[in-house]
Amino acid sequence: MKFQSFLIKYAEIAVKGKNRYLFEDKLVSQIARKLREVEGSFEVWKTAGRIYVDALTDYDFDEAVDALQHVFGIVGICPLLQIEDNGFEDLKARVIAYLGERYPDPAFTFKVLARRARKSYPIDSNEINARMGEAILAAFPKTRVNVHTPDIFVNIEIREKINIYTEVIKGAGGMPLGTNGKAMLLLSGGIDSPVAGYMVSRRGVSLEATYFHAPPYTSERAKQKVVDLARLVSRYSGPIRLHVVNFTDIQLAIYEKCPHDELTIIMRRYMMRIAETLAERNNCLALITGESIGQVASQTMHSLTVTNEVCTMPVLRPVIAFDKQDIVDISEKIGTYETSIQPFEDCCTIFVAKHPVTRPLLKVIQKSEEKLAEVMPALIEEALSTVETIDIGADPE
Ligand code: ATP
Ligand code: MG
Repeated sequence: MKFQSFLIKYAEIAVKGKNRYLFEDKLVSQIARKLREVEGSFEVWKTAGRIYVDALTDYDFDEAVDALQHVFGIVGICPLLQIEDNGFEDLKARVIAYLGERYPDPAFTFKVLARRARKSYPIDSNEINARMGEAILAAFPKTRVNVHTPDIFVNIEIREKINIYTEVIKGAGGMPLGTNGKAMLLLSGGIDSPVAGYMVSRRGVSLEATYFHAPPYTSERAKQKVVDLARLVSRYSGPIRLHVVNFTDIQLAIYEKCPHDELTIIMRRYMMRIAETLAERNNCLALITGESIGQVASQTMHSLTVTNEVCTMPVLRPVIAFDKQDIVDISEKIGTYETSIQPFEDCCTIFVAKHPVTRPLLKVIQKSEEKLAEVMPALIEEALSTVETIDIGADPE
């Protein structure tokens, strides 16, 4: 069975008035953009609260559906049979032919759901339901009507043309990209931060990312892993500008001058400061981290508070109250898990204390940081002026 069109479902109730047009236009352009990755040519258009994708050439169905499933804002993808209105007898014949082809052993329970958007159509939706139901039962004796939990809904939409569909493939949900500004993701090679970036991006927020690299303590492979993760997230989020910060000298200075049980928390504070500066310079409105309460010593409530204190921008922590397994489940779903568990250290082990503080006191940490007052401004300046920028997932041309 070849489908030449898709009906795209989105949660329009959430957006009203003027915003709805903005939402729909962004969604149309994001769909068109994503489908450029698929071989073939497509037209994406909207009319009366509906978005359609028409294939203008041959294309691979699975590839197109996969692309559409990476577009935020889409709730459902309906492969569509679109026919001209040649009267009800013709419609019946087309529906029966479609069902026979799509379901080679038609033994399903079903419910017909007719919608008469074009009011001039001579038969109202209740009557279409009844008459189409009878026709299906007569054509496929093993089928039954089930109005509560049918195996399939036979959707028939009477518009200028007539749309017939029985399948709704789940979409990624969320809001179209480009509807909610941009945020800076602190992206490490772990499981949590790619998921955090995905989750915020799913609300329509575009991403940039910062990775703190500490060569030679962290390897080229560790950096490559972060690039790979950014590319996987960008399949959903659109292009990501990745800023790779050389963090070695800053880490060494902390190591040299500060108590070792405070290393991680102080390091985290400098990461946040630098990421915030990069965020400001690149028009990002917030930071995003993959922190989750209690996961490690640097993520106790006390530690999070002390880390947070250096930031003036909002810090979005979408997985803050998630169990690890919940985060793992999402990373598997979005395809980052296998890359995240590759064994390349993203944070040098020699910089991690055996017994890190779990209840750091802000005053104590600030006191320790005073020991860095002389060297740190120059080190930060140096780190910022040697940032390597990598554009990930941008259009090829
Ligand atoms: P993840 O799985 O995301 O690496 P984690 O459980 O390893 O998280 P931490 O190492 O404590 O947690 O880091 C907490 C958060 O700080 C990360 O989710 C990430 O947002 C940020 N972060 C940590 N290390 C780096 C790094 N090297 N570069 C950029 N961001 C980092
Ligand atoms: Mg980590």
